[in-house]
Amino acid sequence: MLLVDDDALMLTLLERALKDKGHRVSTASNGADALRILREQGPSLVITDWNMPEMDGLELCRLIRSHDGIGFTYVIMLTGNTSTDQIVAGFEAGVDDYITKPFQKRELEVRLRAAERIIRLEAFYHSQTVQLHRVNAEVASMNSKLERMAFQLRDSESEAQRAKELADAAGRAKSEFLANMSHEIRTPMTAILGFADVLAAGTDRRNATPESIDAIDTIRRSGRHLLAILNDILDISKIEAGMLTVECVVCSPIEVVADVAAVMRVSAEEKNLQFQVESVGAIPMTIETDPTRVRQILLNLVENAVKFTESGGIRLIVRMKDDGHAPVLEIEVVDTGIGMTREQIERAYEPFRQADDSTARRFGGSGLGLAISKKLAKLLGGGITIDSEAGKGTTVRISIATGPLDDIERVDRPFENARPTSAPPDLHDGPRLSCNILLAEDGVDSQRLIRFILERAGATLSIVENGRQAVDAALAAQTEDGSFDLILMDVQMPVLDGHQATRELRAAGYHGPIVALTAHAMSDDRQRAIDAGCDEYISKPINAKKLVSTIQAQLRCQESNLKPARVS
Ligand code: ADP
Repeated sequence: MLLVDDDALMLTLLERALKDKGHRVSTASNGADALRILREQGPSLVITDWNMPEMDGLELCRLIRSHDGIGFTYVIMLTGNTSTDQIVAGFEAGVDDYITKPFQKRELEVRLRAAERIIRLEAFYHSQTVQLHRVNAEVASMNSKLERMAFQLRDSESEAQRAKELADAAGRAKSEFLANMSHEIRTPMTAILGFADVLAAGTDRRNATPESIDAIDTIRRSGRHLLAILNDILDISKIEAGMLTVECVVCSPIEVVADVAAVMRVSAEEKNLQFQVESVGAIPMTIETDPTRVRQILLNLVENAVKFTESGGIRLIVRMKDDGHAPVLEIEVVDTGIGMTREQIERAYEPFRQADDSTARRFGGSGLGLAISKKLAKLLGGGITIDSEAGKGTTVRISIATGPLDDIERVDRPFENARPTSAPPDLHDGPRLSCNILLAEDGVDSQRLIRFILERAGATLSIVENGRQAVDAALAAQTEDGSFDLILMDVQMPVLDGHQATRELRAAGYHGPIVALTAHAMSDDRQRAIDAGCDEYISKPINAKKLVSTIQAQLRCQESNLKPARVS
């Protein structure tokens, strides 16, 4: 503490009294010295005389309060003046307490104790304030760190967005590549498969050499296999790009199963395998699903069952599962074949994976069937499970959502006595045509094949090589009153493509049926052809029977002005 008094005796008395009590004391005999000590040593308590020459205690107190360099200081005024006005003036100048002169030791002690309490509280308050400032500074620095992180986050978000755009572009490039590749492969496949059919149909099997029959059969089988692999690759790419959609319609699950059974029974019986279709409980006459996709899944599974079974047989078991909220149709494909180990089952769903490397050599296949079937079953609101034991056989179970079945009739044992057989395709069997067709097609091989199929079916054919010639020929024939009954319009052609030519014809008021031919097999091709003004769409490779029956359906509807059902 600092004692300030111009009276040396008073200063000495006070100093001694305070030092006796253990206080550390400095002294000053005037205000200027007092201020210097206050700045240099920062005592927390000042006891000052009021009346002093040059600077009195009141002035000293004001300077202490207003001086920036002096911290908290408790000021006790030592005075003989005790009028109320003076006491008030002192407090207003910043004095904290008074001691009257001559001082009493006991009073001095209690006033000092009160001062110490205030000083301790002030020190505590000060330390809290300092801590608060530190916390505030930390919060501010955290805030700026957070702002920096938010900035970095925005940065990496836009980087992720850029990466996504790149990936999307790569996905689009892949789809485009696949569409083009599909087109490039399908065009020659049209000629290969079509002419192989022509050769097979024109070969007298009794008189031909076994080698030539074998050669033709091998070309047809391998061609169809290549096409199936191509379709699988396109499907899996579409699924991976999220572009594969299912089209649910009301259809008969019994027909779909019977249809697959009819096709696969032949392959099973060729291997001397038994083939049975059974039902457990009643089966609804109709359900809501995508029959083409259900057929595709079932064909995949039954083909595998036949492929991987050498003795015994294959059973298809159909049942309804109504226990949950949504009814589900379940079909089991049970075989007595080579079976799979647990690890093989786990790998079986991965695209391009087969049980082991020898499978591909022994049995062929692309390893895509189960991967596609699993994704398709999921898209149809169901799934696939496999139970299998190596050497004993395999059960693959698919489920598909059926939609509501409240008012749908159910049939018991629908597959009994129904042994539908599929007639192998025969070019001579096809429906007969008696019509005048304009074919717009730039590929010479395709022209020859389609000419062969249609002329054999009874049609007359005019051929042009591009869309421009097609428009001119169709409009000219109309004015000459020799209109074509139907136009077969290839989509990809030089000069003017098939879509554009169709648009021009429709714009010119041409009403006759136009069927698009395309080697693309992407799902939106049909819609694009219809949007351009075509009535129907056929994808290459050309299936002779389908081509003829599609033309027939179009002509029939032209006669009756009805919309034809799609030929599938
Ligand atoms: P792929 O039949 O074209 O090879 P899948 O995806 O249909 O391709 O099947 C993948 C693999 O799963 C097959 O190669 C085979 O090893 C195994 N697998 C599938 N079905 C059966 C089955 N019924 N019995 C034994 N193994 C099977």
